[in-house]
Amino acid sequence: MAMDCIFCKIIKKEIPAKIIAETESSLAFMDAFPLTKGHSLVIPKTHYEKIQDISQKDNADLFETVRKVIAKVDKLTDATLVAVHNGKKSGQEVPHVHVHLIPRSPEDLVGPVHSMFSNRPKMSENEINQIYQKLKAD
Ligand code: AMP
Ligand code: ZN
Repeated sequence: MAMDCIFCKIIKKEIPAKIIAETESSLAFMDAFPLTKGHSLVIPKTHYEKIQDISQKDNADLFETVRKVIAKVDKLTDATLVAVHNGKKSGQEVPHVHVHLIPRSPEDLVGPVHSMFSNRPKMSENEINQIYQKLKAD
């Protein structure tokens, strides 16, 4: 638990949240400032900052909760964006892993995630290969 983490406070029930589902090691609740109607979050109960920090056991429980809760969220519009800001520079404001489940529809006028990236990189074959080597190394 992190003392000043808003999500740890929700887990400890020190601040209220509209809880949708709870397991031994994960919690799902409605986002307090929803991007669309029904925007929800799923979090591990342990304070991990990034996905790669999560234990295998907690990760299995977290994504099983995502699987169960998305079945409900998806009923709202029949389409859900699943997103994780993994690190401050990716847009993560709360440094406690959280999976966003955001109901989507054409009326939200947002478009696919691809539309966020107007400045796509032009890479040489050499640069692509350098990145490939980094990604496949153990
Ligand atoms: P991120 O930008 O990925 O770190 O997302 C943090 C999310 O937490 C945002 O969508 C906020 O609206 C949401 N949020 C912040 N405070 C609360 C709270 N007290 N209860 C529920 N959701 C919250
Ligand atoms: Zn926390």
